[in-house]
Amino acid sequence: MAALERPTLCLVIDYGQRPAIAEARASEAVTNALGLPLQHLRLDLGDTGGGLLRDDTPLPDAPSPEWWPFRNQILVTAAASVAVRNSLHTVIVGTVLDDRDRHADGSPAFYEALDRLFALQEGAVRVVTPAINETTTALVDRSGLGEDILAWTVSCHRASLPCGQCPGCWKRARVLSSLGLLQTPDP
Ligand SMILES: [Zn+2]
Repeated sequence: MAALERPTLCLVIDYGQRPAIAEARASEAVTNALGLPLQHLRLDLGDTGGGLLRDDTPLPDAPSPEWWPFRNQILVTAAASVAVRNSLHTVIVGTVLDDRDRHADGSPAFYEALDRLFALQEGAVRVVTPAINETTTALVDRSGLGEDILAWTVSCHRASLPCGQCPGCWKRARVLSSLGLLQTPDP
């Protein structure tokens, strides 16, 4: 998404997730390679989450093992605040079609509601989701990026050293393999 949209400012958030170090490192490598500015933001949401991203203990009624309730709502709202601080007015979220299969906060209805919620408040911030009807594979393919940059990406839910055995690791392997990149064995 960053390669295609070339945002004025990229944001990576350490909200207490276990792979936060890897995500920050990957964000730095990718934005450096693309020549884009990156801001790090720290929000300690550890006491609000659960599942694979926090401690492998699913929360009651969790729809998926990595569920962290209201996470996207909180993170996009934090991004909107950063936008206001920088006199920016659009938050670009890299959510994709596959996200809505697992979480209600990956659906078009969710992002449309969030956009309307921001419109009720000061700041004139909009939320856009350019790839919400596109699969991860299609988005990565459209980005035109090669292994030199994609090799830096991480998707593990559990750790900063990818476990290779969680839905995030499986998805990354599946997507990159389907594009003939970073050949890895099927999970
Ligand atoms: Zn993993």
